[in-house]
Amino acid sequence: MHTSPEGDRPAPADRDPHVTGPHAGYDRYGRFDHYYYRCERCGLESTDPALVRGCPRCGDAPGGPDA
Ligand SMILES: [Zn+2]
Repeated sequence: MHTSPEGDRPAPADRDPHVTGPHAGYDRYGRFDHYYYRCERCGLESTDPALVRGCPRCGDAPGGPDA
């Protein structure tokens, strides 16, 4: 068994740097319920891991998110 202090899961090179996560989501009782991802640019949150590869709301915006 070989584990490094940096973690054994390298970050995908193609992930959107503005999307953070996975964050732990909790149910009404404060128990772990799910993971979610969040776009720091527009605030979109999703449980879909595909969000880390690019925020659909920012990425699909005509003229770019800063226009
Ligand atoms: Zn976004």
